[in-house]
This record gives sequence, structure tokens and C-alpha cells, in this order.
Amino acid sequence: MAREIYAYRCRRCGTLHYPFRMVCKSCRENDMFEFDPEPLPKKGRLLTFTHVHALPADFDVPRLGLGIVELENGIRITGQLAVEDPMMGMEVTGEVKVVRHTGYEDRYGMVFS
Ligand SMILES: [Zn+2]
Repeated sequence: MAREIYAYRCRRCGTLHYPFRMVCKSCRENDMFEFDPEPLPKKGRLLTFTHVHALPADFDVPRLGLGIVELENGIRITGQLAVEDPMMGMEVTGEVKVVRHTGYEDRYGMVFS
């Protein structure tokens, strides 16, 4: 089964949050953790990107493309870029993958291509 990354929708006003927040940033009334998780959409548009070199050893790759993507629902997320020649504004599709091993824990993140 494909993994998902979740955004959290406020039950009181419907504002979608990513990452999770303790209090709704919009209505500020929701302090009882009344949020419904919903999977982030996978399609979006690449806003900007960069390449990172000299990564810590717990990354699987020597060089990493990182992009900020605006998803279909307006949420912006930073993810890995698996695109050879990225261009700002291009359409990308994300996949949730293990992006980092820290200790015994696998971290999941969005990888866009
Ligand atoms: Zn709210």
C-alpha cells in the first residue's frame, strides 16, 4: 500500500494545515486537537529548487535536489527532486518514499519527479 503524508483539516473552520499545528492558525479556537487528517495530493507545481551537496551520511544519495512544490490544494511542501533538469513552474508528481535513515527510524518524505 502506498504511504501517504497527511495534512490536517480544522473541524471548526475547515482550514488545512501542513505540517500539523497544535492550534488552528486560522480560527485560533481549535485547541482541542480537532483535526481530520487527509492525504496530501501528489500533483503540484515546482516553485523553486536547489541542489544540496555534502549531505550527512544517513542520506542515501550523494547529491540531493530539493524543491518547494505547491500542491493542488495550495499546500506548499519541501521535497526531494528526482528530475534531471528541473525548471520552475513545471508540473511534478510526488511519491512518498523513505528519504532518510536516522538511527532505527526511517523518515518518509515526498520525492517529486
Ligand atoms: Zn480552524
